[in-house]
Amino acid sequence: MNDILLLKQGEIVLKGLNRRIFEDKLVANVRRRMAHVGKFRIYAAQSTVYVEPMDETADMDAAFEAARQIFGFVAVVRAAACDKDPDAIFETAKKYLAEDFAQAKSFKVETKRSDKAYPMTSIQLSQYVGGLLSDAFPDIEVDVHDPELTVRVEVRETAAYVHSVPALGAGGMPVGSCGSAVSMLSGGIDSPVSTWMTAKRGVNILPVHFFSFPYTSELAKGKVIELARLLAPWCGRMTLRIVPFTHIQEEIRDKCPEEYFTVIMRRFMTRICERIARDNGCGAIVTGESLGQVASQTLEAMAVTQEPVKIPVLRPLICMDKREIIEIARKIGTFETSILPYEDCCTVFTPRHPRTKPRLAEVLEAESALDVQALVDEAAGGVENVIISR
Ligand code: ATP
Ligand code: MG
Repeated sequence: MNDILLLKQGEIVLKGLNRRIFEDKLVANVRRRMAHVGKFRIYAAQSTVYVEPMDETADMDAAFEAARQIFGFVAVVRAAACDKDPDAIFETAKKYLAEDFAQAKSFKVETKRSDKAYPMTSIQLSQYVGGLLSDAFPDIEVDVHDPELTVRVEVRETAAYVHSVPALGAGGMPVGSCGSAVSMLSGGIDSPVSTWMTAKRGVNILPVHFFSFPYTSELAKGKVIELARLLAPWCGRMTLRIVPFTHIQEEIRDKCPEEYFTVIMRRFMTRICERIARDNGCGAIVTGESLGQVASQTLEAMAVTQEPVKIPVLRPLICMDKREIIEIARKIGTFETSILPYEDCCTVFTPRHPRTKPRLAEVLEAESALDVQALVDEAAGGVENVIISR
């Protein structure tokens, strides 16, 4: 059987003159993703990206799963391709959907015709193929209103395609079509979700992790690398930046008032992320903050945290409840890894009574005990790069 994937483009079909740029990106992303799975001919036509196996070794199950993790498609369809002749369409439907017919009690045929020169109308073709299928499977009723099985026929320029239920695509925009951003990735539940949500809107991700060895262990670092690896099928190949953060945290502990530890530490993170963003052409910093979740995520604390930088700080989870965030974490497959019990640098030297409404003037005063520039330079100079491919 001539198995094929039809990937239906989402929002980019609404793009005007720029549409080609988005579509080229999308096709390039599909090619990169499918390169791991087998040899395919991949091309775009009529708001669809076609993934056609070039030989018998192509793993169509794996290709289908991979396609569902590519941003930019609303639906992923596994179909059988055939000649546009109505009898060939019937024969294909009979064979390709034999298992579906064995289970259903009622069916209908639904035809879409983008080849407007085709000699039959959609309704005529549906009736013709439906009639033959009804003879071939006499135990199953035709029900045009609420059928258990819908046989979908698409008549396109060069071929016809037969399939049943389309699967949901990942949605969003092609990764790389909306610029790049530094994403702050801790080992928690939230930041893999905020990273995923940003990639979903077409942003190329540069993940950054702050690491405080020996206060946080190699296991904690391994966990973050694993989270990045789990995100790679969605985000594409990434280079994770691991920033040595121990010296900064010790300096803050030794020289600043305890109630300001966290907010000062977070100001350092923001500055270092801005530096990495600038050096790598990124237009924003992304965090997994959610309003009111902890002391450093009040409006006042977030204002102080982003005060040292001009670059936009994006917080995709800002108005989401933990429950909603967990739901996404489960769906994208990061939850189980996120809950492994390794400490994050944010939990090292946590103040007993953090200020939930820090005042900028007091924070600046507290920070003046530190050589901020030298500490930022030192940390940025010691960054370790870990290539994350899937
Ligand atoms: P998460 O579940 O993402 O760890 P959290 O609820 O633990 O978040 P915080 O620890 O306050 O919240 O961190 C808020 C955000 O700051 C995180 O979502 C992440 O974007 C960033 N962040 C925290 N710790 C680190 C770290 N060690 N490296 C990189 N980013 C971090
Ligand atoms: Mg955290």
